[in-house]
Amino acid sequence: MTDLVADPIAGRLAGKRAVVTGGAQGIGAAIARRLAAEGARVAVLDLDAARAAAVLPVPHLGLACDVTDTASVDAAFAAVAQAFGGIDVLVNNAGIGSAPGDGMAEFYAGQAARAAGQPDAHADQTIHCSDAGWSAVLAVTLDGVFRCSRAAVRIMAGQDRDVPGAGGAIVNIGSTAALAGNGPVPYVTAKAAVLGLTRAMARELAPRGIRVNAVNPGATETPIYAPLPQAVKDAVAADSLLKRLAHPDEVAGAVAFLASADASFATGSTVTVNGGAWFS
Ligand code: NDP
Repeated sequence: MTDLVADPIAGRLAGKRAVVTGGAQGIGAAIARRLAAEGARVAVLDLDAARAAAVLPVPHLGLACDVTDTASVDAAFAAVAQAFGGIDVLVNNAGIGSAPGDGMAEFYAGQAARAAGQPDAHADQTIHCSDAGWSAVLAVTLDGVFRCSRAAVRIMAGQDRDVPGAGGAIVNIGSTAALAGNGPVPYVTAKAAVLGLTRAMARELAPRGIRVNAVNPGATETPIYAPLPQAVKDAVAADSLLKRLAHPDEVAGAVAFLASADASFATGSTVTVNGGAWFS
């Protein structure tokens, strides 16, 4: 599998100061490592400071940050700006599929039933999702993107724009589910809104030299797939033209491109990394 993943482009992000939210594991950790390997100094933010700090060695940073909490976000971004002298790249990666114990178990059960050719009524979140479950998903997966972007842009906007290439870059992690609708209803809703936010912020922030783009991963082999029955994983892989799940590094490569000067004329755009799984 690792043979398929391209090597980082050494030095492409040299001098850049990057923040990755939800970076303690999965896709976020792969992104953090990739940005660091390309020369950026990276701050990994996650709920647990110790897990965040374990991803990369000093001089990188690992800090506690709950993207649902404005005070936590603002404090973390201020700490990064102070430690790094500014912020050039924000990757809004933190996202959850459902509130713990509310909806995802039913969704997985429905997926398993569907894979076995049985009715999948339990996957029907329009019936099963509570108000609290709905709000919890949007609080992380959508509101967190706005909250972290606001904190980062307030810092980026005060930085020197006269230096060539000094503009900031925001990369939002969306999902193929935002396009195909193949996920829990609150999650799909939040991810679709993230793509709208990406286009609106790109338009608004272009005069400040800040580019805003998104990456839409398809099913990616991370801890959120661990509880899925093998039959469901097999069915998901079969939906992809490449007949497998993505490796987190394959998503990280697209993020590094959009964060870099190689994407200097890309803003408001979306790179889809889903093995061609359009029809699931
Ligand atoms: P994981 O659940 O493996 O990792 C997400 C990380 O975000 C965890 O470390 C989690 O911490 C953290 N997190 C959760 N809530 C918060 C919060 N309120 N504030 C800060 N951090 C938080 O997810 P993936 O790596 O699989 O996914 C990463 C992103 O990619 C998400 O936005 C996801 O929706 C998206 N994506 C994933 C796909 C996939 O197939 N894996 C497909 C398409 C999109 P903790 O573990 O402590 O809860």
